[in-house]
Amino acid sequence: MKKYKTLLFCLFCGFNISAQKFDSTAWKYANTISVEELSKHLHIIASDEYEGRETGKAGQKKAMEYLIKEFKTYGIEDVKRLNYIQTFPLIEQESKGIILTIDQKNYELNKDFIVSPAMQVNRIIESKVVFVGHGIEEGNYSSYKDIDVKNKFVFFWKGTPKKAKLSKEWTSKEKVELAKEKGAIGVMYYNDRLKAGLDMYKHFYERKAVKLKDDFTIETPIIALTEEPAKAILKEAGLDMEKLNEKGLKKYKNAKLPATLIIEKPTTELSGENVLAYIPGSDKKEELLVITAHYDHIGIEDSLVFNGADDDGTGTVALLEIAQAFQEAVKDGAGPRRSILIMPVSGEEKGLLGSKYYSNHPTFPLEKTIANLNVDMIGRYDEAHANDSNYIYLIGADRLSQDLHNLSEQVNRTYMNIRLDYTFNDEHDPNRFYYRSDHYNFAKNNIPVIFYFSGVHEDYHKATDTVEKIDFEKTKRVAQLIFLTAWEISNQEATIQLNPIPVED
Ligand SMILES: [Zn+2]
Repeated sequence: MKKYKTLLFCLFCGFNISAQKFDSTAWKYANTISVEELSKHLHIIASDEYEGRETGKAGQKKAMEYLIKEFKTYGIEDVKRLNYIQTFPLIEQESKGIILTIDQKNYELNKDFIVSPAMQVNRIIESKVVFVGHGIEEGNYSSYKDIDVKNKFVFFWKGTPKKAKLSKEWTSKEKVELAKEKGAIGVMYYNDRLKAGLDMYKHFYERKAVKLKDDFTIETPIIALTEEPAKAILKEAGLDMEKLNEKGLKKYKNAKLPATLIIEKPTTELSGENVLAYIPGSDKKEELLVITAHYDHIGIEDSLVFNGADDDGTGTVALLEIAQAFQEAVKDGAGPRRSILIMPVSGEEKGLLGSKYYSNHPTFPLEKTIANLNVDMIGRYDEAHANDSNYIYLIGADRLSQDLHNLSEQVNRTYMNIRLDYTFNDEHDPNRFYYRSDHYNFAKNNIPVIFYFSGVHEDYHKATDTVEKIDFEKTKRVAQLIFLTAWEISNQEATIQLNPIPVED
């Protein structure tokens, strides 16, 4: 159980809310954010010419060039002399190129079996597949008793033995982990729903996959089998899948068959870029606020351009306007006290890769990074707000910093009065949005975040997420809220405070 170190401290949390004064300077620069400019930028980066901005491809590079050109026009300097970018190396692999041979019979990837992780370092694994029965271990019972699986493929069967006294149901995931602990070079199991899934999600399984080059290391292949190869393995072991019983399982445990996994996946090296627009602060310049939005999207599929106007064209153009507003303030001698990094990232649609790379290789120290505001899809309405143009979901703030949450609420009350919806901030929300955009790579490093999001809509991740469906007035108001929140975070006297650290009993 977790508890708070100082209960008294928390009792005072609520009293931190002080009435915020309307700051006419902040308001002046917030009003440089305009529908016309947001619309102008989005009509460009969400046009077919930008080819859906897929990370590593021409469209993303083009969008990157556009962003850099704009930041330069505003007068933002290339402080670190990195040409405004952080480059991250990527590996892309096709979903073909793995052959599984068991007892001289070849099986086909995405038809007879799948491998996870899907991305594998090319190599040949030649060994034996060892049948271990249910593949569990608890108390005195072990499926691995007297069986050596070191550097062999393990094949386990579903369920658990009736006789063994067990404290839990064993999932395939737990069985896989156990097999790995025992030294298996690969793990196989039968999944009775795989075949139907492969037919239904063919498109998904045949997609190319991308990883950070940093993360592309040798990983144990976990092989889920359809009925045919599973049956064949059992048959070779002397078992009939249909008539499988405890006795048979026990009798044929430790049966071995020769197996080879040939991994020769077509592999390409690519790169993605995060764009860096750094605005140095004045008297508190060591402290940094990071504002992010992903400018990549999913590219072209079946010759359809996925323009990603809302996802995340809206967040990207909001960042341009926010950067311009801050830089105008700098020019007038009213720049922020703390530094601000406005960072359109890429690689998001491939798995938050750009922000992950940044958090592993931060251009500015994370210890001095006081908060991250992340913007992803702010120009549309979801079903729950079909007739409401004045709302936004906020996710994350109070999880790490009640202080940030209070500030955000107060700024909204003072200037914007947008309906802040916290539905998705619920820790038990099944959508898990807290983990699904770039802010998470800051939050996991204990940096307080706010994620601004309008929710999903009927065009989400479809080629129909196009620019004429965007409500630019709404986009502008949310961008202004983010700008004003950033203004307050970077200019207020106190630094955003983390919640007291929960301690274990
Ligand atoms: Zn997105």
